[in-house]
Amino acid sequence: DMQEKANLARKRKKGDQRYRYSFYDEELQQKLLEEKDLMGMVEGAVRKGEFVVYLQPKVRLADQRIVGAEALIRWNHPERGLLAPADFIPAAERHHQICRLDRLVFEEICRILARWKQEGRELPAISVNLSRQNLESSAFLREYRELCLRYEVSPSLIEFELTETILFENPKGVRACIDEMHALGFQCSLDDFGAGFSSLGLLNDLDVDTIKLDRSFFWNKRSGQRSLRIVEAILKLAAQLHIRTVAEGIDDAGQVAYLRRAACDLVQGFFFFKPMPVEEFEATAFEEGRLRYMPPLDKMSAPLEREGPEDLLHMEEQPNSGLVAFSYDVKRDRAVFSAPFSPVMEGRCDFQAASAFFRKSELIHDSDREDFFRVLERCRREDIWVETTLRFYMSQGRYEWLELYISREQGSSGGNGVVTGVLSNMGEWRAELDKWREKADRDELTGLYNRAFFERWVTRKLESADLERGSLIFIDVDNFKEINDRYGHLAGDEILRFIAQKILGVFRRTDVVARYGGDEYVIFVSSVSREILTTRLNQLCGMFQEPYRGDNLTIYMSASIGASYYPDDGQDFRMLLEKADQALYEAKRRGKNQYVIYED
Ligand code: C2E
Ligand code: MG
Ligand code: MG
Repeated sequence: DMQEKANLARKRKKGDQRYRYSFYDEELQQKLLEEKDLMGMVEGAVRKGEFVVYLQPKVRLADQRIVGAEALIRWNHPERGLLAPADFIPAAERHHQICRLDRLVFEEICRILARWKQEGRELPAISVNLSRQNLESSAFLREYRELCLRYEVSPSLIEFELTETILFENPKGVRACIDEMHALGFQCSLDDFGAGFSSLGLLNDLDVDTIKLDRSFFWNKRSGQRSLRIVEAILKLAAQLHIRTVAEGIDDAGQVAYLRRAACDLVQGFFFFKPMPVEEFEATAFEEGRLRYMPPLDKMSAPLEREGPEDLLHMEEQPNSGLVAFSYDVKRDRAVFSAPFSPVMEGRCDFQAASAFFRKSELIHDSDREDFFRVLERCRREDIWVETTLRFYMSQGRYEWLELYISREQGSSGGNGVVTGVLSNMGEWRAELDKWREKADRDELTGLYNRAFFERWVTRKLESADLERGSLIFIDVDNFKEINDRYGHLAGDEILRFIAQKILGVFRRTDVVARYGGDEYVIFVSSVSREILTTRLNQLCGMFQEPYRGDNLTIYMSASIGASYYPDDGQDFRMLLEKADQALYEAKRRGKNQYVIYED
């Protein structure tokens, strides 16, 4: 208590500035009481729905398109009006209320994404802030994953924002949390990067998908040039590590133009949009259900007007593929590309006097040109593979980071060789990866996890030290083929979805449910005693007694279930699966519609 009070006094702005100290006194006490008062109201405010979520759009610079948003909490206080996070988040942290609020925001985001999905809209990625108190263990993630399943929202659409200061307190724990987030399919970003003690080494150390450059980089007009050099260095490093970059707190056109040239990925700031209520976001970000393109930068002075169709066409002009091959004959000074990927090339692929072209045209970014020549020279002299990351002019003042790999052509000798290589567009590559990731972990039909994810997850879980016991359950629907033949495949699909939902109802929080194939489901239950396992299996069988009721048909079904127990029946995934499968076989042999737990 005394420490808390001394600390409060320390933070006080007033007081005798000459001595820079201050005592705890009546006034501070009053403030503390008010804070306590306010925190006492959180409970009721949650129930009355006074906390609301605002969304601030993120704009992708490559095509000036809104592709995401950050969720930011507000408190619609009945007496004090709309409170900003600064008015209650620090207090909520001190009073251990913050995890509730974070969870509330998370659930609200799930609800919103689910609704948008139902309305057939294109879905933006949404980031939510996570306070450090969540990260004391990774247990909260299971609950978050449950919410995703309940609302049928793909975790890949959600990104957690962690502030970099968290890392210094518990680097190991945070790293484990980030791994778990990825295992569950979520994305993760480093918020306010550069505001504190950021080290570039962090980026190499942590497996984050995104960094958010703090607004202080762009804010301080005096240290301008230096900040900008640092920003460029960070952007380059991030590009090399395939980490996405978001610039935060951008509020003027000059900054946006600069970031475009510097090949930053996304911008979130008042220049484009302030945080807004969800309804307003829907009106702003969507156009006939698709995420909207912004007008080109030079047309964006003050009020945002809708652009004509010509502009839109222009915006969608994208480099045609992720890869460009080229060769450069040094002696003849001739370069040939497989595609005219930049407007600077004016549709040509073959360049005589190539070095002059590289030097004088805008093809390569001013700041990266020397690097380009250096790499060429090295490759020519030393006969090795070289790679680097450079910005190339892609369209209307916009540069993009391309990865350049070159080597000297076989057989040609040093000094006058031919250099060949490829340029790869990492932006494209990353977009592909994102799409792939989103699909990769899920079973399309039921929305449960798929077999590959299940195997990976269980393997990882078994390797982690914190698992003492668990069970792998294998379910096979009895006579599913008959149902399919009799009622048709559509009804069959419906049944599979129905069963998936039912299984999710039996298992919760800590368990992972997946569809293994056709009519087979698998579940991994962590930390379960044999008694509880038996209860769960009985519930499962009971659940199958309940028929599916469609519009005008009722379908009865049953299932055979086998379970193996960790660590008694096996230590690794293969073994546990095999034993569960044997138990399942035994259940079938005994006449189906029952469960069997593996025994020697
Ligand atoms: P943050 O996560 O760094 O969020 C960005 C903040 O910068 C937002 O303030 C946003 O309104 C503001 N911002 C964005 N663009 C500009 C700009 O161009 N100029 C200026 N001056 N400001 C800009 P907000 O909404 O007041 O949130 C402040 C902080 O409160 C957030 O910083 C975040 O750390 C925290 N916060 C907000 N919502 C939550 C939440 O649900 N959970 C937790 N744990 N923290 C939250
Ligand atoms: Mg944030
Ligand atoms: Mg931030």
